[in-house]
Amino acid sequence: MKPAPFKYAAPRSLEEALALKSDYIDTARFLAGGQSLVPAMNFRLAQPEILIDLNCLDGLDYVREGEAGTIRIGALARHRALQYDPLIVERQPLVNEASFQVAHQQIRNRGTLCGNLAHADPASEMPAVMLALGARMYARSVDTDRWIEAKAFFRGVFETALEDREMLVELELPALPARTGTCFLELARRPGDYAMLGVAAMVALDDEGACSEARLAYCSAADTPVRAGETAQMLLGRRIDEKAAQEAEASIRDELDPPNNVHCSNSYRRQLAGVLTRRALLTAARRAGKQG
Ligand SMILES: Cc1cc2nc3c(=O)[nH]c(=O)nc-3n(C[C@H](O)[C@H](O)[C@H](O)COP(=O)(O)OP(=O)(O)OC[C@H]3O[C@@H](n4cnc5c(N)ncnc54)[C@H](O)[C@@H]3O)c2cc1C
Repeated sequence: MKPAPFKYAAPRSLEEALALKSDYIDTARFLAGGQSLVPAMNFRLAQPEILIDLNCLDGLDYVREGEAGTIRIGALARHRALQYDPLIVERQPLVNEASFQVAHQQIRNRGTLCGNLAHADPASEMPAVMLALGARMYARSVDTDRWIEAKAFFRGVFETALEDREMLVELELPALPARTGTCFLELARRPGDYAMLGVAAMVALDDEGACSEARLAYCSAADTPVRAGETAQMLLGRRIDEKAAQEAEASIRDELDPPNNVHCSNSYRRQLAGVLTRRALLTAARRAGKQG
């Protein structure tokens, strides 16, 4: 398949890119890694009038430390950086673990985290990870800028809170609290496929080894990534042992109402959610315990 005809611009500065987006508004698309946009154009699911290629912009391919232990990731940081950048490996193990599940290495070499989030596929791993971590996104237009919390960012299937003139310029990951363990697990039919269901789990322990905070976020479980509040809440103050994890397994099956589609049924997804949640919680709690 070939895309419909389109114009192409390769701006040299962020301001120029934002001005172009402002001129064309909803008929323009930013091109980052092209790993989702180009296939969509080839299938003519997307027919932008103009592509604004971000790849000539300097200084946006960073992973760097922000204030108070935060980590900032620029619009052109590739999925590959999440696999191997020392800051991510050492300080954001959930992002690091999940990054290996995103597509194949060739796609991770080119695709960007910000492009992935802007694309907002509910089956994508990283939106669920951002939700679990409480990340926030920095959006700019030619004359505005704002931060958007992950929980407000994902609005629906391929739909975000970004306005037509806005670009996702960077995102910020908060520092993990002390004695925190994380785990990302998913099941896909083949390595590199989108998950039939995936869970991003975070567990913080108090001085007695009981759970002081639990977060559970899922991909492929709804039209957006979802947090499971009730199941996480029931773990507070408890040791996350086999019994607690089994109760969480039963609870999450009731709490989620995942879609029925060609990839798998609602009931199979509920079953998966239970098993993956139990395993992810036990692993996250064990990792938290190893932190002293
Ligand atoms: C075979 C295959 C398998 C894949 N498997 C997975 C998988 O298992 N899990 C997964 O999560 N993904 C998967 N993907 C998608 C991949 O992760 C993409 O890289 C990612 O979704 C999009 O990132 P990109 O940089 O390529 O964005 P692009 O394709 O360039 O853009 C995607 C969309 O985001 C917009 N956009 C890009 N950057 C910005 C920005 N900074 N601000 C605002 N809008 C922006 C574009 O205009 C476009 O609408 C797969 C892709 C392929 C081809």
